[in-house]
Amino acid sequence: MGNIKRIASGEWRGGVPGLCRPQRVVFSLLAALLGLAGSWLGASAGASPAEPAGMGCSPMQLRSPTQLRSPTQPLPGSAAGPWGFWGHRRINRQAVYTIPSGPLFGFFKRHIGWVEAHAVDPDKRRYAVPGEAPRHYIDLDRYGPWPHDSLPRDWDSAVARYGDSTLQANGIAPWHIQRMMARLRWAFREGETRNILKQAAELGHYVADLHVPLHCTENYNGQLTGQKGIHGFWESRLPELFGEAYDYWTGGADYIPDVSAVVWQAALESSAAVDSVLSLERELAGAYGDARYAYDRRGERILRVHSQGYAAAYHEVLDGMVERRLRKSIRTVGSLWFTAWVDAGRPALPDGEAEAPNALERLAERWSTGSGATADSADGALPNGVAKLVASEIGLLDSLAATDTLLVPGNEKARARLHDH
Ligand SMILES: [Zn+2]
Repeated sequence: MGNIKRIASGEWRGGVPGLCRPQRVVFSLLAALLGLAGSWLGASAGASPAEPAGMGCSPMQLRSPTQLRSPTQPLPGSAAGPWGFWGHRRINRQAVYTIPSGPLFGFFKRHIGWVEAHAVDPDKRRYAVPGEAPRHYIDLDRYGPWPHDSLPRDWDSAVARYGDSTLQANGIAPWHIQRMMARLRWAFREGETRNILKQAAELGHYVADLHVPLHCTENYNGQLTGQKGIHGFWESRLPELFGEAYDYWTGGADYIPDVSAVVWQAALESSAAVDSVLSLERELAGAYGDARYAYDRRGERILRVHSQGYAAAYHEVLDGMVERRLRKSIRTVGSLWFTAWVDAGRPALPDGEAEAPNALERLAERWSTGSGATADSADGALPNGVAKLVASEIGLLDSLAATDTLLVPGNEKARARLHDH
């Protein structure tokens, strides 16, 4: 639990040697957003553990990445991530088709490939960005029995009662989704193609996570009840095995007048399903014994996974739960995109390319070539306005806004490294 608490509270776990913390934060955040985290951050900082083949993120990994530092210990369960990468991409893709016909649908349809491909970005940066992990879950059972009334739904009231660090340690997914809505509204108003798509794709990720029952309990991987591996089993292996046959016609997106209510409803539904997810598997495991596992070769390694027969039996006793949660995710994601656009005043949508570099990437380019980032000062400090842009782009404005000056590395080796990629 120590690891969980440290990660969840955003304690920094690695860094580029020679850089102070603010430097490392900016530097690694830039790298993460540029998709470099997996390459040089992992190599230089040791913050990104080796992962089993095909492994994405699960809350287990999000919370305790040290578990994955031993790639020779296969984890029972799935070889994919939360909702699997397959599931997250599918949810974002299908959500596009829930949008009512009109300019918003046209915009998303044009960029459907991008929104689908970037559905998993928040998982990819989980080791590089402090504070990322708790955005993917909330341990509701730490706040008393369902419906967890001791937890105020309003962020300020929740902070007043429990304090920020406790909330962070237990996960902040419902509040982060509301923050993402604000960002998406802002992005619609700003009208930059890439930023709209980025905020929308990532909002879709967090909403989908919240619909997974095991994202809403401290027993997120069955580790407290002798069911380790159930997380990936439920949300990755089952939909990957059976998801193609699901019914993806979910009905059209709705305008949501009370976003907070809908988000908390999703969390409470997930929490209410936790008991079934765990108890049904426990009963089945007793009947199957060792027959519930099979062995899967992935390259050099042998992974223990839940067998197809066992997966089919579990899927059957769940009685459509995985499909229902997946369908609900899709419709909620589409409805939130639509709502953000309406609340932004139904602005005209840009016709720019999704792959055009965004403001942050342009900044990184200038900085990596030494052509501007240090223009305002000799000691390598970013101009304040730029620092704030970085913070807000990356989503840490809340925690970093008070930092007037963020330093960039004067470290030539690190700079060259970024430039190389
Ligand atoms: Zn996630």
